[in-house]
Amino acid sequence: GSVFANVVQAPEDPILGVTVAYNKDPSPLKVNLGVGAYRTEEGKPLVLNVVKKAEQSLINDPSRFKEYLPITGLAEFNKLSAKLIFGADSPAIQENRVATVQCLSGTGSLRVGGEFLAKHYHERSIYIPVPTWGNHPKVFMMAGLKPMSYRYYDPSTRGLDFQGLVEDLSAAPEGSIVLLHACAHNPTGVDPTPEQWEQIRQLLRSRSLLPFFDSAYQGFASGSLDKDAHSVRLFVADGGELLMAQSYAKNMGLYGERVGALSIVCKSADVAGKVESQLKLVIRPMYSNPPLHGASIVATILRSPELYHEWTVELKAMADRIISMRQELFNALQAKGTPGDWSHIIKQIGMFTFTGLNKEQVAFMTREYHIYMTSDGRISMAGLNSKNLPQLADAIHAAVT
Ligand code: PMP
Repeated sequence: GSVFANVVQAPEDPILGVTVAYNKDPSPLKVNLGVGAYRTEEGKPLVLNVVKKAEQSLINDPSRFKEYLPITGLAEFNKLSAKLIFGADSPAIQENRVATVQCLSGTGSLRVGGEFLAKHYHERSIYIPVPTWGNHPKVFMMAGLKPMSYRYYDPSTRGLDFQGLVEDLSAAPEGSIVLLHACAHNPTGVDPTPEQWEQIRQLLRSRSLLPFFDSAYQGFASGSLDKDAHSVRLFVADGGELLMAQSYAKNMGLYGERVGALSIVCKSADVAGKVESQLKLVIRPMYSNPPLHGASIVATILRSPELYHEWTVELKAMADRIISMRQELFNALQAKGTPGDWSHIIKQIGMFTFTGLNKEQVAFMTREYHIYMTSDGRISMAGLNSKNLPQLADAIHAAVT
């Protein structure tokens, strides 16, 4: 018999499992609104033109090798990534107070940041919004932190439970870590207003709570890279410390290339240097050094004013298509007279709509309409197009009537 005979079958990942189920469905009508990956109006995955151009210029460069990167990754990529999220004129960057390391997309950045905190920070509790991206609690638990929760979403208003958030973070032990979605909260699509962000900042700073930002959708939410970085920049401007996990999966469409960065904004350049030295000790035994290709693409785009501009145009086009799908879905439900208030579809921002549909309604839509989505009622707006949208509207209508 096998030495592994006692290994039990693990459950499928709740998000990635949706695609597994979708792939098994032979129906030509099937629609995958589970995973958060952008699709064109034709339902196809998209490689940005600017990414193709950058790749072409990399291929044509005879000086390029496939040597190892340093443990911290591509230095230019790190600099440009910090600039992108914190702003070119960020005092933290000018004062050399930011330690940035290239990581394996957003997930890897969260994990490396979590491992660093578990080793070097005095408080283990990390407060995570309810609900949140399903991987958050697992990433931080595996890193050695203690996931705790704070109220975030109010199902009755389908909006922010700001009072609950303030109460829970006011009761968190001093010094606790707080995970914040920089913009386009996943799965709810509900973000604090600028005024609420300012109140959150004051609350965190007054109680010495340590912000850990997760930025997986910069530019993808509003179409503007600067606007989507507002919350983060508010916290950097006060001179305090924070962690930032950045992903280029969505905004550059580099999903499978696994490109991201972890930045730790520190009080002084001296601290930042020491922090970086310790980040290397976290990374070296985990995967030695990060991959070269994706970071080279990003650096090529961010360093060139022309390519950068082209990127912002393509990024805005993706964001705008998603926003127009929100409006079309809302209009379709209005036209059908579907019972209930569906205005949250146009109020929520980013890749997802948190529909408010329950598990049974989701199961019904999958069974009867071949529409695949996570069981919490989250749909990826990026997977919608004018062809499959009527089918979704029919399915929602039938599920609630
Ligand atoms: N954080 C959030 C909130 C996300 O939605 C995602 C992607 N679904 C990630 C992090 C990480 O994604 P990746 O590792 O592909 O960058």
